[in-house]
Amino acid sequence: MSLSLGQRRVLDAIDLSIASGEIHALVGANGAGKSTLGYAIMGCEGYRPQQGTMLFEGKPIDELPIQARARAGITLAWQEPARFEGLRVCDYLALGASQGDPGAALEAVGLAPAEYLYRPLDKTLSGGERKRIELAAIITMRPKLAILDEPAAGIDLLSLDDLVAAIQAMKSAGSTILLITHVEQVAAHADRASQLCGGRIVCQGETQAVIENYKARRCRRCDGETCNHG
Ligand code: ADP
Ligand code: MG
Repeated sequence: MSLSLGQRRVLDAIDLSIASGEIHALVGANGAGKSTLGYAIMGCEGYRPQQGTMLFEGKPIDELPIQARARAGITLAWQEPARFEGLRVCDYLALGASQGDPGAALEAVGLAPAEYLYRPLDKTLSGGERKRIELAAIITMRPKLAILDEPAAGIDLLSLDDLVAAIQAMKSAGSTILLITHVEQVAAHADRASQLCGGRIVCQGETQAVIENYKARRCRRCDGETCNHG
C-alpha cells in the first residue's frame, strides 16, 4: 500500500500483516510515517492510499468510511487524548463498553475507580489522566483492532508499568493491538514488530531484533529523502 500527502509519498509500498491477537509494535523515528499508517488503517479523512489494498479479517476495507471501520471493530487512540466537556468518566467508559467493567479498566490503568468514575472528562484532568482514561475505554470497548498512536506520550504521568499493564489488559480482553511508538522500552512488550523509515518498512519480525535494528540504525528525524536506511 502506498499513500501520498500533497506532493510527498509518505507511505511507500507498505506490506504489513498483523496477526489476530498479537501486539504488533510499529517503531520508527519522528516523521517516519507511523501516524499516517494508523490513520490510513482507521480510514481517517484524507488518508486514503492511492495504491494497494487493506484487508481486515480477509475483506477489503478501502471503500469503508471511518464509521464503518469502527463498527467493524477498529479503533484508534490519538496521540493527543480527547476532552469531552459535560461527560463524566463513567459515561465515557460506558459509551463503547461491551461487557467490560469500567472500574476494573480504571484499575488496570492505575486510576482508583472511587476517585475517578464520577469526575468530569474535562480540563480538570491532566493530560496523563485523560490518556489513562482513553486506554481504559479501549479495555472496556474490546475492539478487534486497537491502534494506539504513541500511548507513552505524557509518560511523566502515565508510567511505563501502568501503560504496559493496560496494553496487556487489552490483549487479555481479546484485542489485537498495533502499538505505534518511537520508545523502544514500550515496543519491547510487543509480540512482533515492524520498523518504519522514510515511509518504508525496513525491518520486520521478532521484536528484539527489530528494536536492535531501530537502535543501531535510526535517524534522528526521518525526512524520507536523505535517509537511506532501507
Ligand atoms: P510519525 O508519526 O512517524 O512521526 P507522520 O505519519 O506523522 O510521522 O508523518 C510522516 C511524514 O508525512 C512527515 O514527514 C510529515 O511531515 C508528513 N506529513 C504528514 N501529514 C502531511 C500532510 N498533510 N501533507 C504533507 N505531508 C504530511
Ligand atoms: Mg506520529
